[in-house]
Amino acid sequence: MKKDIISAPDLKEARKRSKENIDIIYSDLVIENQLFNYARNKKYLLKTFGCQANVRDGETIAGILENIGYVLTNEPQEADLIILNTCAVRENAEDRVFGEIGHLKGLKLKKKEAIYAICGCMVQQESITSKILSTYPHIDLIFGTHNIHRIPQLLFEVINERRIVVEVLSNQGNIIENLPSKRSDKLKAFVNIMYGCDKFCTYCIVPYTRGKQRSRLPQDIISEVEQLKKDGYIEVTLLGQNVNAYGKDLNLEIDFAKLLHLVSETHIPRIRFVTSHPWDFSQEMINAIKTLDNVMPFVHLPIQSGDDDILRKMGRRYTVEEYLTTYNKLRQIDKISITTDIIVGFPNESLEAFNNTLKIVDECAFDGAFTFIYSKREGTPAALLKDDISEEEKHRRLSLLIEKVNYYALLRNKTYLGEIVEVLVEGKSKRNEDILSGYSKQNKLVNFKGNINNIGKLVKVKINKAKSFTLQGEEIDE
Ligand code: SF4
Repeated sequence: MKKDIISAPDLKEARKRSKENIDIIYSDLVIENQLFNYARNKKYLLKTFGCQANVRDGETIAGILENIGYVLTNEPQEADLIILNTCAVRENAEDRVFGEIGHLKGLKLKKKEAIYAICGCMVQQESITSKILSTYPHIDLIFGTHNIHRIPQLLFEVINERRIVVEVLSNQGNIIENLPSKRSDKLKAFVNIMYGCDKFCTYCIVPYTRGKQRSRLPQDIISEVEQLKKDGYIEVTLLGQNVNAYGKDLNLEIDFAKLLHLVSETHIPRIRFVTSHPWDFSQEMINAIKTLDNVMPFVHLPIQSGDDDILRKMGRRYTVEEYLTTYNKLRQIDKISITTDIIVGFPNESLEAFNNTLKIVDECAFDGAFTFIYSKREGTPAALLKDDISEEEKHRRLSLLIEKVNYYALLRNKTYLGEIVEVLVEGKSKRNEDILSGYSKQNKLVNFKGNINNIGKLVKVKINKAKSFTLQGEEIDE
């Protein structure tokens, strides 16, 4: 099939950062009549991998497709259009996607007119897009993280010209407002406050796949939260790769602390935010979490390593001591929960360096941690480092770390025994129909005996059992 490579990913371009202002575009989705007629009642299947930012992009993709006229299906055989919205943060995430792409080949043999597309962070990498083009001819469309709003035009070309279309932009990215979206939850919503990242941690592919750090205008964020509140949402999570840097790129008197105050004034009952970076965490932000009732006492603050030498090689730009200063200030906040991210097996991580990581877990006693084995990402500076830690040793370190993290998670959860916590009831527990489930203000998963009519409401639960990653209890009257 003929190919139309409108634009292929370019790592050199993706690395560039200029002082130029980015454009904020209030998009009017342009949909050709022919596409409307073609797509009416056709079925789409969308599979999203990876982080909250990708889930939010998935909601926008679904919104655009339903605007075009497609109808959602979860049956691959039924689908006229399948889109894989991919993640590139680690190798195993990519392996899973290639498994899915291989699986689509069989489906295509049964349904030749079906359209298969790949988008998201994975295809922002040159080697991946060229591999898909050379190895998987059953893929019809490849687009990136910067041009989701172009789906109608790109689909139209695939359908109309019957050719493989590739458009992956490696520029800094703009901000596209007003795109339709189909939210995946009725109670809790993700709200992007910024896109991209300029931190360039040496192991991380995100600055290359998601472009320059760029903040949305506060009024656009506030009107989105106000609309969500009107639509009955109870909780919003403010999203950014590094929310603490919000507003630095805007010529406005605004930063993340001020934004938290503005969002708080909408009186939406619950406000959360991910992900934080120790480097930009100001006292004003800590005060906002402490004083604003509807800002939840939960912070996800990745440390990545407990060793200064490794932190320097990761380009994290803080020391363990500096991390602890912010961490301990946050711990002053009553009943706060703090989780983190930790990487083991970074190139040249000595046993002593690893032990320093175990020590920091002892010192911080986190409420929880996402733990990962270092995964080499082509194009990142760390990928050039000789990886001298054996797979066996990496796994040994990971299991030691997980054991310690689980120990402290349980210790922290035990402090809730006998306590009364507020829970947003999301539904029945996955494991037991008679048990309800939801999250506390501290983002702890709580399973409890309660009134099924309170699904969607905030209730009080008395905790009578604690496990490493869940609390159990009984609903009590106010
Ligand atoms: S802060 Fe570092 S780890 Fe986080 S997205 Fe940016 S470059 Fe990646």
